[in-house]
Amino acid sequence: MSNVTVCVRFRPLSQKERKANGDRVCFKRLDSESFVFKDEREDDVIFSFDKVFYEDAEQSDVYNFIAVPIVADAINGINGTVITYGQTGAGKTYSMEGPSILHCNKQKTGLLQRVVDELFQCLQSSESLDMWSVKLSMVEIYLEKVRDLLDLSKDNLQIKESKTQGIYISGATEISIMNNSDALERLSEGIANRAVGETQMNLASSRSHCLYIFSVQHGSTDERVTAGKIILVDLAGSEKVEKTGAEGRVLDEAKTINKSLSALGNVINALTTGKPNHVPYRDSKLTRILQDALGGNSRSALLCCCSPSASNAPESLSTLRFGTRTK
Ligand code: ADP
Ligand code: MG
Repeated sequence: MSNVTVCVRFRPLSQKERKANGDRVCFKRLDSESFVFKDEREDDVIFSFDKVFYEDAEQSDVYNFIAVPIVADAINGINGTVITYGQTGAGKTYSMEGPSILHCNKQKTGLLQRVVDELFQCLQSSESLDMWSVKLSMVEIYLEKVRDLLDLSKDNLQIKESKTQGIYISGATEISIMNNSDALERLSEGIANRAVGETQMNLASSRSHCLYIFSVQHGSTDERVTAGKIILVDLAGSEKVEKTGAEGRVLDEAKTINKSLSALGNVINALTTGKPNHVPYRDSKLTRILQDALGGNSRSALLCCCSPSASNAPESLSTLRFGTRTK
């Protein structure tokens, strides 16, 4: 049975929100698992999740609760996924990368830096260090095309499946990362490539899904076996695009994002409600890539990121409903 933890994170109010709407927030804290959601246009609703991180939560709180078990499992051969969901500006990337992947005070580092730290710490304490390696791939899914963020010349990668590798992205660059600082350099290159693509394609990163794939491998140089992989996913913004006025690429983007996010919701829902024979992985590239890191005996976490501002209540409500549906 698959194991999916669903959490919510409210970031602090931003200056902009304070200026425009004052300090009104869309929830009232009950405890560390539930809150009352307040939307002026609707009745109050109580929401409960595996954990709720409020404005004062530290990055380490989020990491310890959702990612530590996943890293431990990966080393023992069990795949895992950590997914951030929410409208643009809700705190997905902050949760993943912190304020900056490379130049960031230790307290504020995100899930990525902490996963890397933990992976190397565990491997270093293992007896046969020379037998282990960690490989990194980074891809972006935009308009249902998979683009290699470690080699921009590869802009339409195909997803395949094999007995030995499970689901894999054929031809995706895989680099061996040797230690923490090496890993962060490489991650930062990939993130910068995302920005390069953005100006070329005039694409805002909020319109694509970004996947960070770590595979923990062991064995001799000629014969390597993947033990477990961890996929961290910074999803495209879940906000609704105004139906009127949107046309051309903007509308195509909105439609494909919508389709892949609902495919993700359907997959997690099928897994958590115990319908493992009818899991619609093939409905999107995203769910197909995540197939063996969400299903089987893997362990996953969904972090639903929300703005706390009353002015964003409709989008936050939609994010919370997505989270509830996956439970
Ligand atoms: P998203 O990736 O969901 O579009 P971001 O992660 O970029 O959103 O967050 C939007 C803004 O809010 C950024 O300026 C970010 O630094 C800030 N922010 C998000 N979450 C937090 C947090 N928990 N604490 C402090 N600032 C945050
Ligand atoms: Mg972002």
